[in-house]
Amino acid sequence: MENKQYSLDTVCAALAYAMGIEAPQNAAEKNPVLSAYIDSVFGGEKADRVLMYNPDAIARWIYEKYRRFMADATEHAEVEVPLEAVMPSVTPVCFGTMYTGAQPQIHGIQNYEKPVIKIDTLFDAMLRAGKKVALITYGACSLGKIYLEREMDYFHFDFEKGGEAAVNAKAAELILRDEHDFILIYNGNYDSVMHKFGPESPEALGELRANSHIFGCLSNLICENWKHHNTLAGFAMDHGCHEIDGNCGSHGLAMDEDLHIVHLYKGYKKEA
Ligand SMILES: [Zn+2]
Repeated sequence: MENKQYSLDTVCAALAYAMGIEAPQNAAEKNPVLSAYIDSVFGGEKADRVLMYNPDAIARWIYEKYRRFMADATEHAEVEVPLEAVMPSVTPVCFGTMYTGAQPQIHGIQNYEKPVIKIDTLFDAMLRAGKKVALITYGACSLGKIYLEREMDYFHFDFEKGGEAAVNAKAAELILRDEHDFILIYNGNYDSVMHKFGPESPEALGELRANSHIFGCLSNLICENWKHHNTLAGFAMDHGCHEIDGNCGSHGLAMDEDLHIVHLYKGYKKEA
């Protein structure tokens, strides 16, 4: 991979740039790799649809070592964006940075805790620009909590109501309904299984392949049903992971395995 690795805080302004809106107030400078790709794929136009698929804890080293499990995702990606997660490399801290563009001391989540973020976020910036936003989450996940209290559509599923399967079905439904400008989808299955059985266990790699497959399915739906939109689709994890004693997995430390990740993006230019 040739692209230089920038901080995860550069993604937010690049997503704002993709949509042609102002970045949130505390966002770091936009990621140059992603913004250059946006310029080229849309020929100077902007994306009127963004789909962010957020799997949890897929490390760069896992991505590079197990690419054969990632084929559905890589077939629906045109640019790799190497990134460094923020510290501590845990879910609410990193997703807090992804959608504010701010470091943890600015967005306020500096531990594994899930308060509602009070500073300006990409969601607030989109709402100011008149965008319609959907967040699709499940269980006790961070993304189902830290961006509450905004005027957007929250679809949240408890495990008894289908968990991640319900999330992915709702994502497909929203693509077909074609009413939202921005759709966020959270899938934490790789992370949950990785913690229990280890990052390279057959159980975890099965979930990795599932994440890749879902992104492929959603990308196909975009391709078939959003031909009249410029769409940016991202496969965008929060942080990586490493193996610990007892064949378990973990993350949260300042080590390359936990910090280095690679986002995948593809733009779908509307048909003339
Ligand atoms: Zn996470």
